[in-house]
Amino acid sequence: MLVPHTCLNAAVGSAFKKPLAAAVAGLAGHALLDLLPHKDISAHKAEGMAVLLLLGIVGSSCGWSSPAFWCAMGGVLPDVEQVLPWTDPKQGRRRYFPTHSPGLHSLQIPRAPRYRISLLEQTIVSGVSLAAVLLRCRPGKCR
Ligand SMILES: [Zn+2]
Repeated sequence: MLVPHTCLNAAVGSAFKKPLAAAVAGLAGHALLDLLPHKDISAHKAEGMAVLLLLGIVGSSCGWSSPAFWCAMGGVLPDVEQVLPWTDPKQGRRRYFPTHSPGLHSLQIPRAPRYRISLLEQTIVSGVSLAAVLLRCRPGKCR
């Protein structure tokens, strides 16, 4: 769910004035999105490259010190531990971000326990969010 973490948080961040507050909001936004029932992509390298590209688009469009960019960074950074070998549960290690524990990640909806937000739905929300950011943030218009 890294692409929605990037795009949705960038959109939310564009409503902030201070980059630090936006980054903290990005961490909170990451936790909220992790709670939602969702499908995750198993192609971590491709997803990582897409996120770097998206962060580059947001940073170069809104500014590298803009709240939109830093909210997106706050939304992405917790998932770095998802690819670190020393936080890999398969090797008996634990993850530290609260919503990365199995009991808090991708929760089930009581009346629809099999429902997961699909990759297509995630892509649509991400595209709309990114478009909103790019329409709102123009060079010189954002901080
Ligand atoms: Zn996460």
